[in-house]
Amino acid sequence: MSAIWTEEELEASVLAYMDMRKKDSMAEPYIKKSYYSELSKRFGRTEKAFEYRMQNISYVMSLMGRKWVKGLKPAKHVGSNHIEIIERLVSKVEGKSYVGQATFEGQVWELKKKKSFSKPSGEIRPNSVTSQVTKYQRDPRVKAWVLKEAEGRCENCDNIAPFLTAEGEPFLEVHHLKHLADGGSDTVTNAIALCPNCHREFHYGQSMASKLEELYGKNSRLIRE
Ligand SMILES: [Zn+2]
Ligand SMILES: [Zn+2]
Repeated sequence: MSAIWTEEELEASVLAYMDMRKKDSMAEPYIKKSYYSELSKRFGRTEKAFEYRMQNISYVMSLMGRKWVKGLKPAKHVGSNHIEIIERLVSKVEGKSYVGQATFEGQVWELKKKKSFSKPSGEIRPNSVTSQVTKYQRDPRVKAWVLKEAEGRCENCDNIAPFLTAEGEPFLEVHHLKHLADGGSDTVTNAIALCPNCHREFHYGQSMASKLEELYGKNSRLIRE
């Protein structure tokens, strides 16, 4: 068994992961161990090794602001080259183009944990790249309705919007509980008005799953998808 993971092994792991994630989102039962055991037989690594790899994939998903598979807590011990490969594979499986968000954030994390590193000179004129990004055609009526319904308060923490926009409107963001990228609908039963703090937490917070459950429990408008 080689210490270096081949692209083929990583791809098979990502495919298995995305399959579990899909089942999670449809509340379909499955057994994680059977995925690991199948991979283990195929590639000759231990089931544990695959389980840990799955947690690395959760980490990449979390860097992308996406949901991770229940019970597979993100494990950050993964080299930035692997983060890039995994992000590329996730994008490929989803039929989207690679944007490098997890790759960038993974590099930030690596640097932050260094004891010291010298002040960077940065780039006066950063290079730009044009990339294809999948955009969803949202219904402005859904966003407007949800914002009106919220009456200037975050529907999660109930605090009033943190500031007024230039137009004098309370600033809130409309979030889709089941992300559009995961096949969520653009309807008022899947959309919620959040303050920016709560919104970021729903994407990047460590307890996003339990927060989500709470929200479904307290707001009768929302329907689980
Ligand atoms: Zn809030
Ligand atoms: Zn959102």
